[in-house]
Amino acid sequence: RSPVSGEGHSHLLPGGFNSLWCSETRVVEEFQMNQPIPPYLFAFAVGELGFREVGPRTRVYSEAVNSVLDAAAKEFAGTEEMIRQGEKLFGDYDWERFDLLVLPPSFPYGGMENPRMVFLTPTVIKGDASGAQVVAHELAHSWTGNLITNMNNEHFWLNEGFTTYAERRIVEAVQGEDRAILNTGIGWKGLNEEMERFKDNLEFTKLKNNQEGVDPDAVYSEVPYEKGFQFLWRIERQIGRPAFDEFIKKYIATFKFKSIDTHTFLKFLKANVPGTEKEIDLVLWTEGTGIPPDAYEPVSNLYTKIVSLANEFKLGRMPREDEVADWRGQEWELYLENLPKIIEASQVLALDERYRLSESKDYEVKVAFLQLAIMSQCRNFYGEVEKTLKEVGRMKYLRPLYRALVQGKEEDKILAKRVFSEARECYHPIARGVVESIFAKHL
Ligand SMILES: [Zn+2]
Repeated sequence: RSPVSGEGHSHLLPGGFNSLWCSETRVVEEFQMNQPIPPYLFAFAVGELGFREVGPRTRVYSEAVNSVLDAAAKEFAGTEEMIRQGEKLFGDYDWERFDLLVLPPSFPYGGMENPRMVFLTPTVIKGDASGAQVVAHELAHSWTGNLITNMNNEHFWLNEGFTTYAERRIVEAVQGEDRAILNTGIGWKGLNEEMERFKDNLEFTKLKNNQEGVDPDAVYSEVPYEKGFQFLWRIERQIGRPAFDEFIKKYIATFKFKSIDTHTFLKFLKANVPGTEKEIDLVLWTEGTGIPPDAYEPVSNLYTKIVSLANEFKLGRMPREDEVADWRGQEWELYLENLPKIIEASQVLALDERYRLSESKDYEVKVAFLQLAIMSQCRNFYGEVEKTLKEVGRMKYLRPLYRALVQGKEEDKILAKRVFSEARECYHPIARGVVESIFAKHL
């Protein structure tokens, strides 16, 4: 509609604003959303966008480039099936639309669960529908962590722990138990590594923690995701899956469109699952540091096989081609994460010669491999490291690569500084800040 004189206000432009507001080419768009949300879930995207229909309530949007749109539509073709599985597990989908927006490579996150339209990094488009896992995570937020949100960031695990749990249940329903366990195993490894990272700052190994005076971006970690997941999985093991499914449905129905804290959750748990506090040390889980002794490393044939192959590498045996023939990105990711942090440079070269990991289209694999190459001082791949740092701005990849470089020799540090000075303008301000804080700590 046309603008109306006097309706626009600005403290910055008193007087001049009304003529700007009412200028000739101005159009006012009004948007009303009926579901209440906290402000962190509100986002704008501006650009020349195109879209493809991928389901009855889903379009995938990106910059209007046909090749990107086609690849995205193919990658996310299974979205409607995931929404249906989610509804079966957690109740009706309450947001009407579930659209996806694929952003440019500088987007600093894997995804952001903005309700009705999820924002995604283009690195989830891998060409083999495995990017669906990030979509499963963002979709799971539609119930856990968008319907019920944390009261503040000190209770962030209520968003992410629940969502990680819900994501794995959706993945299990759609892609099978083996896939879900692989996902859990990668998370388990990640959680253990965070304990190492925070060994001098144990506060941030707690689920509920004190963030007074702390920049949340500086302490962002897998702890709320994976320890939160482990806590819920522990409760599931205690009371059995059918009872836990009932509990989650009731929890969501009770608190939907509200923001709550850890205390409220525990009170609800104790009221609805009487006696849990006698079986599970709820205080240790929510307020204690580290990983509780009753957390659980997952077991499955595939998971155990990959971890044992990684252990054999330490004895000098590389997996045979027939052993990895049907491996996808996640299998490689788990394998690489379970190798020693530092290996012989010659072993790095041999691994790449056989499996071309440095050229993987899957950034999870490529970055895990490049991190290993840097830690092992194998300089043959530094060209690829630089290229990667300049083409994506997702913090999940920037963090390990820059961290590995600044912990290396003098020339690695110089490389890190040069690449950052050349790439920084292409990074999102949040990502830029994170790299700067890595430099401040190590340089
Ligand atoms: Zn999330």
